[in-house]
Amino acid sequence: MDSGFDDLDHDYAASIAGRAMRSMAEQRIPPTPTNFAVWFQYFAGSHDDLRNAIDLLIDHNRSFDSRTNQDLFETYVAPQVSAVVVTSERLHALMGTAKEFLATAIADNHSQMQAISEVADQGKAGVDPKALVGQLMNELARAATKATRLEAGFAEKTRELDVIRDSLSKSEERARTDTLTGLANRRALDEFLRKVQTTADWGEPLSVLMLDIDHFKTFNDNFGHSVGDQVLRLMAKVLREKVRDQDLSARYGGEELIAVLPDADLAACAEIAERIRHAIAECRITRRSTGEVLPNISVSIGVAQYRTGEAITDLIERCDRALYLAKGGGRNRVVTEIELDRAGAAG
Ligand code: GH3
Ligand code: MG
Ligand code: MG
Repeated sequence: MDSGFDDLDHDYAASIAGRAMRSMAEQRIPPTPTNFAVWFQYFAGSHDDLRNAIDLLIDHNRSFDSRTNQDLFETYVAPQVSAVVVTSERLHALMGTAKEFLATAIADNHSQMQAISEVADQGKAGVDPKALVGQLMNELARAATKATRLEAGFAEKTRELDVIRDSLSKSEERARTDTLTGLANRRALDEFLRKVQTTADWGEPLSVLMLDIDHFKTFNDNFGHSVGDQVLRLMAKVLREKVRDQDLSARYGGEELIAVLPDADLAACAEIAERIRHAIAECRITRRSTGEVLPNISVSIGVAQYRTGEAITDLIERCDRALYLAKGGGRNRVVTEIELDRAGAAG
């Protein structure tokens, strides 16, 4: 398998490996194959996103616990490896035929040039000009036919490359998408959060909202799991439609969805959360098979804003506690982290 490092000089690779091992020992990171892959890539310096993520963790004195190590591997290293496996076999085959094709084309071209220049040489030798023009036209017509074939061959190779590029981007997309809802999955969510955390640490606002369907268990019990799935897909659709293109909506867990809003402060995020809550409460859901109108569904939403330098897990935890408060307050409502402080002060 091509690791992307096969061309590295032995001594250079050994020095990177040594630095990776020393750094892992200093940070008490177990030297497992996956952790080693992460730290080798870090010191090889070829993966900017990975380097930024680790630098940020170091800058904020975060510990490299097993969850963080696993996330780093899954977010930055694993997708690269699987993408390489998908392409390398097909690309190799395509490169082989493309090379053969070019070699034939060049040889053909060469013999064609030779034939034309031989005809031209006869001109100097005083051959009948009419016969000469006839021969030249014949050779040019043959050259034109070959050029057309060549062009068709090139077009075919280009199409094959397009297919490979398409299937690659589709498989990348699949690896980041939740199959039931079509929203981003946990891996894509973690990756996005890490990315936007960097700009948030420079001072841009960043907020999240977490949504949980109210009494969903009862709904499933009454109408069946597949109707429940249909509802979950509808909630996902509403969420996706209510956030901006730059935001990310993801499935956080079973019936918990999340939206990450870079550039939005708590008030702006709470306003969007309220629009989502309202839109869902207004949805009329009918059972596809029978047309039966089902009881209205509601959601509770927690909202929190990132605090510079904090761990993403702290942000999510605050959002989760706000959501829990919304449930306790009677459901079908939006609660922001401000109310956590109030609830804390009251309790
Ligand atoms: P609450 O208002 O407190 O959130 O009540 P709830 O019943 O929604 O809460 P709870 O967390 O106890 O139950 C969540 C339910 O969500 C349990 C499970 O049946 C349902 N659920 C989770 N994932 C899926 C899914 O993918 N499809 C369907 N149909 N149901 C799901
Ligand atoms: Mg739940
Ligand atoms: Mg629920």
